[in-house]
Amino acid sequence: MKLGILTIGNELTSGRTQDTNSSLISREMTTQGWQVTVMMSVGDRAEAIKDALNFIMAKADAILVTGGLGPTADDITTACIAKAFSLELVPDEQALLHIKGLFEKFRLKWTDNNAKQAIFPAGAEPLRNPVGTAWGFSLRVGEKMIIVIPGVPAEVKRMLPEGVIPLLRTSFPQEAPCIETSTFKLFGLAEALVDSALTDVDFDSLGVAVGFYPNFPENHLVLTARGTSAEETRERIRQAGAEVEDRLAPHIFARGEETIEGSVASRLTEKGLTIALGESCTGGLIADRLTNIPGSSSFFDRAAIVYSNRSKTEMLGVPEEIIRKFGAVSPETARLMASGVRQAGGTDLGLAVTGIAGPAGGTAEKPVGTAFIALADQAGTVTRSFAFRWDRRRNKIIASQAALMLLNEYLKGETCHDE
Ligand code: AMP
Ligand code: MG
Repeated sequence: MKLGILTIGNELTSGRTQDTNSSLISREMTTQGWQVTVMMSVGDRAEAIKDALNFIMAKADAILVTGGLGPTADDITTACIAKAFSLELVPDEQALLHIKGLFEKFRLKWTDNNAKQAIFPAGAEPLRNPVGTAWGFSLRVGEKMIIVIPGVPAEVKRMLPEGVIPLLRTSFPQEAPCIETSTFKLFGLAEALVDSALTDVDFDSLGVAVGFYPNFPENHLVLTARGTSAEETRERIRQAGAEVEDRLAPHIFARGEETIEGSVASRLTEKGLTIALGESCTGGLIADRLTNIPGSSSFFDRAAIVYSNRSKTEMLGVPEEIIRKFGAVSPETARLMASGVRQAGGTDLGLAVTGIAGPAGGTAEKPVGTAFIALADQAGTVTRSFAFRWDRRRNKIIASQAALMLLNEYLKGETCHDE
């Protein structure tokens, strides 16, 4: 089955909203073993919608349309599709009851234009929306199938597995190939270097496709195997994965859905360790990332955002002379920030970052992107220096990542204390 995707909305063609639906849908459909042959976006314009449908129908067996199902006059998808195939618009009692029910539940004021969302082209099958007022619908046109769902990404996300995919499975019941993917997350190696580290691996003959997905500051490597049985695809992924590990193991910090903050959180929890943070150039970003993990209160004690020299001294006890002598951005200061915040928090660990995010503040000796990260435990500190080369925002992100990486290595027992 070949699938075409049509996303509709003036917000897409004017660039105000990025078309994330197409990428979400194509990712999901590819995983299901279906091939996406066209992705197209048009504004809320009858002519454009009709032309796009004609174009895609010639290239695909099924078309998934998102957007333009709202109650307002500018949402015209349903009417345009009905018109394109000379179908009447007919109200659906169940969909109307669903919408009215939601209005009552959330005590919203009913206006008659809302009834528009319960009107479908004659012959269409309404498609339930578990998270919104706008139901979608499916329509058979000859051999082809058109499925229309709302544009709100959260609704697309729910309706794909709960409505669209099951419907496509039953409508196009040919044998689905077995597909398995495996994701490796890497840090500290540019995409081109990841690629060249793998040049000697013949992924084709292993029956595996390789995709590189930079996701700053990480690089994701995705292996996809297709086969006729689950055993076959699993074996292909296993072999290709072993080749990847052989060549890139030191740079792989996570697999699949795992994240660096997630790994760190599990390890801290497992070991029953607590941590306090002293953040200068990251401005609380590490604290944000760690506290995004549910259950972080079991290991996360506090974070001091110590931007000024005075705060480093007052809150973390870094002696003024040290800052004067070595600078606020120095390994000496980083080390004392880490031990200072550890002491202040009475925690097992203290993690600190100090650096120059830019664009100003760099010197010849310490250019923008210079950063020092230190981790303190009861026995001493581990300090690392970095020379990042990005803009302010990305320097902050990559510094937070490097700090979490250092913490992760420490928790795995792979670091040594400073001399
Ligand atoms: P609609 O279903 O057209 O009323 O869309 C509702 C909202 O969903 C729009 O205002 C956008 O914010 C969002 N949206 C619509 N289409 C897309 C898309 N293709 N990608 C991401 N967001 C979208
Ligand atoms: Mg719209």
